[in-house]
Amino acid sequence: ARFTVGLTGGIGSGKSVVARLFAERGVDIVDTDQIARGLTVAGGAAMPAVLAEFGAGCADEHGALDRARMRALVFSDPAAKARLEAILHPMIRDAVYAASLLGTAPYVIFDIPLLVESGTWQSRLQRVLVVDCPEELQLVRVMHRNGLPEAQVRAIMAAQVPRQVRLAAADDVVDNGGELAALAPQVDRLHGLYVEMAAAHAR
Ligand code: ATP
Repeated sequence: ARFTVGLTGGIGSGKSVVARLFAERGVDIVDTDQIARGLTVAGGAAMPAVLAEFGAGCADEHGALDRARMRALVFSDPAAKARLEAILHPMIRDAVYAASLLGTAPYVIFDIPLLVESGTWQSRLQRVLVVDCPEELQLVRVMHRNGLPEAQVRAIMAAQVPRQVRLAAADDVVDNGGELAALAPQVDRLHGLYVEMAAAHAR
């Protein structure tokens, strides 16, 4: 398999902005959230198994996963959460690996918001890249981007691993505590590093 970098970071840390900068440099990006969502749209590959496990009540009238309902269920029932993940996680992994075969760039980046939380990706990654910024900046950026109240953003942040735990899992860090313009030089440096590492990996 190609040299693969896992890109992660807390909510609003700047993963999407950083992923775009790598894409502009020709790197293949696999968006794991987008793949996961695609499995549970109407006609999605995971829906037959999900319907068999949870019944028609877990889908809306079109046959797509009823996200609000499922969220409420798994929030109150850890066993249901485990059953849902037992269906989805292997399918997500397979679909992500399949998507990663498509590109021809020297290396591929998997954009994995919950890389550290899920703990199942690391063995497949050559490198973990964390986008980091102070939590107060995450808070302000997400409140601004999504128009959410502070308490709601703090609740999402509290459900993710703490900043220091994520940083401890990092091989490389993009510091996004400054201006957007500060990102490109960091991405240039890392891209150079990854191209070199990918060449060594291929040998
Ligand atoms: P999520 O986890 O919610 O998907 P993310 O990690 O992908 O978020 P982005 O969407 O890239 O984060 O960034 C969050 C918001 O903050 C966006 O509106 C983005 O434009 C803005 N932003 C990111 N970095 C900076 C920066 N250095 N200065 C100012 N605004 C920024």
